[in-house]
Amino acid sequence: MPAAAHVGAGLCERCRHQRVVPNTRGSRFSLCERSKTDPHYPKYPRVPVLECPGFEEVDRREGPAPNARP
Ligand code: SF4
Repeated sequence: MPAAAHVGAGLCERCRHQRVVPNTRGSRFSLCERSKTDPHYPKYPRVPVLECPGFEEVDRREGPAPNARP
């Protein structure tokens, strides 16, 4: 079971590779989309992530990340 992301996922919260996944009980989990193509990245990283070589900042001026889900 991944750690719930409601306490803040650290770097992932500002990363274009994060997708927030809600469950039916109202918790939110931070999923790393890089895990789909690179086994070095866990699907659900232990949060908060403080350092990550794959971090790429989301440009908020362009609106929500393309992989963001409401
Ligand atoms: S690449 Fe790193 S910082 Fe970005 S979502 Fe994945 S684990 Fe988080």
